[in-house]
Parts: sequence; C-alpha cells; structure tokens
Amino acid sequence: MKVRKCLKHSSEPNVPNGSPNSCTLRQQKSKQTDRHRIVLRPRSSKFVEIFRTTPINTVCPNFYVLSHANGCGFVPHCTYCYLKSSFWHLNGQHVFNNRDKMLKEIRGWIRLDDLESYVLNAGNLSDSLSFEIYRPLIADLVEVFRQEAKGRPHTLLLVTKGGLKEARVLLRLKPCDNIAVSFSVNNPVAAATHEAGAATVEDRLEAARRLKKKGWRIRMRIDPIILGFDYGWITRQVKALKPERVTLGTLRAEHNLGRFVKTPILRALEKCSDLKSLARYPLKTRLKMYRDGIRILGTTCPVGLCEETYDVWHNVGLDIESNPCNCGG
Ligand code: SF4
Repeated sequence: MKVRKCLKHSSEPNVPNGSPNSCTLRQQKSKQTDRHRIVLRPRSSKFVEIFRTTPINTVCPNFYVLSHANGCGFVPHCTYCYLKSSFWHLNGQHVFNNRDKMLKEIRGWIRLDDLESYVLNAGNLSDSLSFEIYRPLIADLVEVFRQEAKGRPHTLLLVTKGGLKEARVLLRLKPCDNIAVSFSVNNPVAAATHEAGAATVEDRLEAARRLKKKGWRIRMRIDPIILGFDYGWITRQVKALKPERVTLGTLRAEHNLGRFVKTPILRALEKCSDLKSLARYPLKTRLKMYRDGIRILGTTCPVGLCEETYDVWHNVGLDIESNPCNCGG
C-alpha cells in the first residue's frame, strides 16, 4: 500500500517505530490504485460530531461519530463498501494524525451531559482498527476512556473487520467498561469473495473470542448478508460467542454506489425511486434472511437490524423499544 504524507505537515512524527515509514512504503511496488494510498494529515474540522442516521424511516439510533480517518486501510476494499461512494472524491485514504487535538475534543465530549447519544462511533467513516500501524491511536483512546469516562455512560464503539493482528493492541491492554468492540463477520466464502482485504472470518472470530475472554465488551454484526450464501454456520459461531448484542444486516446500497462496484453483486437489489433511500433485496427475501438468523440466535442476546424500517422490525418480532442496535448505547 502506498502511504503519502501531506507535505505541508511532513514534520509530524506519525509513523511508529518498527512499522513501515512513509518513504519505504512509497517505494513499495504496489498493484493498488492511487485510491488506496494512505494520506496522513491533520484534520482541521471537528473530530466529534453528532450523526443523525439516514434514511430517516429506519430504526437506527443517532450517535456521535469520531472522524479519525476518511477511508479504510484494508485493500482491496470490500466490494459493497459504501465508503467508495462517500469518499469517491478523495485522492486516497485520509488518516488524521493530529491526535492531541482529537483526544482533547474527546475529553471535552466525555464531560458533556444531556447528550442525545452517549455512543462515540469510530467505525462509521472507517474501519476502527485498520490504520493502527500507520497512525497508532487505539491505546490513547482506551486510556482517555479509562480515565475520563469511568462511571459515565459515554461509550467508544470500535467497529472492525480486523483479526488478531488488528486487535493486538487491545489484547495487550486491560479491558475498559466504556469501550465496546464490534466485529463484523460474514459467511467465510462471501468474505473471501467480497471482503478480501479484511481479515478472514476465522481470524475475526478468534480475535473476538480472545478479547471476550480477557473481559472486553464484544458486539457482533452479521452484515451484509448476501444472497446465495448460507449463514447458518456463522450465526452459530456468533451465538456461541455470547456477545452483548448482535446486529443483522442485508446487502443494501445508496443510489450512487453502483458506479463504483465492478461486480454484479448489487443486481439483485430492488432500486428505489427516492434517492435518499437504499436499494435492497425484495422484502420477502430480507424477511427470510432475518428470521433465519433470529431463530438461530434465540435469546442469546438482544438482536437488531441494521438500517431497516419499522415495519420490518415489527414483522420479524424484534423489540424496537429496547434499543438493541450495535450503534446504540
Ligand atoms: S472493512 Fe469496512 S470500511 Fe473497510 S472496506 Fe470493508 S466495509 Fe469498508
């Protein structure tokens, strides 16, 4: 992967000892396109901002977003990833390295009361752990939450398709009650096909198991469920993990994602006329996918649906009031 540092801020000590530096990485022969190169630079706008989820007719809770990066460090990017259409205009994966400003803002957020959400999601605009070797951040985040959020409802949500390598930093640290680690998993063949840059599913599961054993709070996402693959095995693995929450999601796409997806994966989705809505599988298909998952998970833990509408939640018998979403507090 190519790494490019913003020349204006090239004096920033942002590459850890023992990890590839920007020069050597720049020299690496890479078959990836420029779109995948990493641009390390300071962020000038706010790091912590409320995100009101869209489309508005979905059940998803609002949450705060931690904009530590715009993009993802896993190459190739997942076939269906919405970041392709969100950040199509960027000249690479932008990773923000002015950590002191970021941590100061987070400390300020933790001191606030009466917030509309107490979840700070570090996985909405990026995989939470995929940039660790280029810009170590997680240990600092854990320390801030350990020191400042103890006894408060403020929670950092880390969302990842990483495995043991990416979770290593967490495995070395004592768990923190104010941090939840959410692993996104899939059918292993679907993952090998459509999530080829991320850790294997077994690796992700093993990382989740080890973190759970150490006492970390673990949430799981089976998302996106893709037509043509069987989800019985992975759902049973997730059940055996006994996470604190599980979210099920089916493949979906914003109206402009198709321009950036080279495979036919989105063809089975029903297009929507409303540009603010999502293209999805037909309702009957989704209901079966959700019911199959819910039946296997049983009463192991609260279960939610990602970016689904009220009628679908009701139809499959899930409890909206208990706010069981991965992104919820
Ligand atoms: S791991 Fe997540 S953020 Fe990264 S490419 Fe895949 S879906 Fe996108």
